[in-house]
Amino acid sequence: MIKAIFPGSFDPPTLGHLNIISRGAFLFDSLDVVVAANARKTPLLKPKQIGILLEEQIKNLKLPSVKVVVHNGLIGDYCRSINASVLLRGVRSSSDFDYEFELSILNKQLGGGIETVFLPTETKYLVFRSSTIREILKYRGDISQMVPPEVERALLESL
Ligand code: ADP
Repeated sequence: MIKAIFPGSFDPPTLGHLNIISRGAFLFDSLDVVVAANARKTPLLKPKQIGILLEEQIKNLKLPSVKVVVHNGLIGDYCRSINASVLLRGVRSSSDFDYEFELSILNKQLGGGIETVFLPTETKYLVFRSSTIREILKYRGDISQMVPPEVERALLESL
């Protein structure tokens, strides 16, 4: 039984995140998507709302082994609390990898030996970044190709 977690800010959740979640659900027996509650000082969406949006998408994708939790604190503590053995992360580029590599070493120390598994993005999601989407949204640009319609609606309402 391999328990995995997929932590992130998901502010906002993108089609790239959902791709990693679907592929992770296929690889592991259970997958907890962990929304970081304390990620940014000025979030676009609140962690609770992000959790609800992700749950809706996971239900649409029919992924019964995936659940969503909002966690306030260190990821390592959450790993240990549920006895997870894998921490899943997506990588888009070598600069993502540099950062993720360091994070994986820290998380192994703090998360009771948890192993990080990296999934390379699929090319169609290569340039989807939550920070880019926040920037595009600031200038009322079109984000409909990057996020599910329900997320786009919530984002437009948040403006
Ligand atoms: P954080 O706030 O933890 O830096 P995000 O919430 O932006 O991260 O993303 C969570 C995880 O999803 C990270 O592992 C990130 O690399 C991955 N990710 C984000 N966007 C994509 C994408 N388009 N394709 C693949 N993985 C992605």
